[in-house]
Amino acid sequence: MILWGKREKKLKEGRLQQVTCPECHSLTSMHYIVFGRYIDVFWIPTFPIGKKKIIECDKCTEQFFLKNLPQPIKAKFKTEVSTRHSIWSFSGLVAIISLISLLIFVVVKDDINDKNYINNPMIGDVYTIKLERKDRYTTMKITEITQDSIIVIYNIESTPRRAKIYSIDKAKNYMEFSKDRFSKQDIKDLYHEKFIYEVDRH
Ligand SMILES: [Zn+2]
Repeated sequence: MILWGKREKKLKEGRLQQVTCPECHSLTSMHYIVFGRYIDVFWIPTFPIGKKKIIECDKCTEQFFLKNLPQPIKAKFKTEVSTRHSIWSFSGLVAIISLISLLIFVVVKDDINDKNYINNPMIGDVYTIKLERKDRYTTMKITEITQDSIIVIYNIESTPRRAKIYSIDKAKNYMEFSKDRFSKQDIKDLYHEKFIYEVDRH
């Protein structure tokens, strides 16, 4: 999958009158084209990375980059041609920054929620846990809470991908025979030790 790419877009074109061509030395007009250069991320036009200014002599048709032309032509170009990027060319960048901020907000909020859920457990909470020997994840669900203990049942399925945990978090996968008991302090410790990765409260 291609996540980003470079792109050029014609911003402007026109003519400079009464300039002297460094190639054929005629006093002539020159045709210019200004290209904006952009980086696109996920096909969203994201931000400008510069401009390319190409100028062609109307007499001898020689092409130049503006930066290679003599100072008088550069100065004339600068006073006559405005080549600002449109404000819209930054809109993709703004969208991406907003998206990243939102993502950070969601992740941080999720973490705060998890801590809160660990400290105040409820029946039905689902803990994502890592199986120690295998590189797989499974869940355990709280079925009972007493004065100082938490009783859970384990999920009999597991998945190699933490993001796929939702696909095994099904009622039919929790079996009564796989009960376990933890103290409330154990649960906090297991969360700090990252044996419990995540808490889901539906
Ligand atoms: Zn020329």
